[in-house]
Amino acid sequence: MELDRPLPTPITPECQPYWDGLKENKLMLPQCQDCGKPFFYPRILCPNCHSRNITWIQASGKGKLYSFEISHQKLNRRFNVPTPYILAMIELEEGPRMMSNLIEVDPDPQVVKCEMPVEVVFEKMTDDITIPLFKPAQ
Ligand SMILES: [Zn+2]
Repeated sequence: MELDRPLPTPITPECQPYWDGLKENKLMLPQCQDCGKPFFYPRILCPNCHSRNITWIQASGKGKLYSFEISHQKLNRRFNVPTPYILAMIELEEGPRMMSNLIEVDPDPQVVKCEMPVEVVFEKMTDDITIPLFKPAQ
């Protein structure tokens, strides 16, 4: 199968639970054990209180569309997702925001609306990499 986009090569240990979770169709988020806030992207310090006391929680996979762009051109030759596609900033139910693509919806500004409820879809790209995409929630 030809891949439609470049894939990450996870190398930092603080990200490994995120990628391991995705392989099992789980969206995992780091959560600070001192201030209690989940955050994204994974890192060794809590971005809220700078604690190193980090644990992991499984996110519900539900959220809302915070912002989006309908892209009509490929700005990177290795990115072969058919245009137009939707670049989406998702605000997860747990609070953190993550960049993804919104799929299974017309890439039309009359249809795609900020605040629309969305849910995660796990897209297996290779044996090692599954990526989280989002679709309108049922
Ligand atoms: Zn904290």
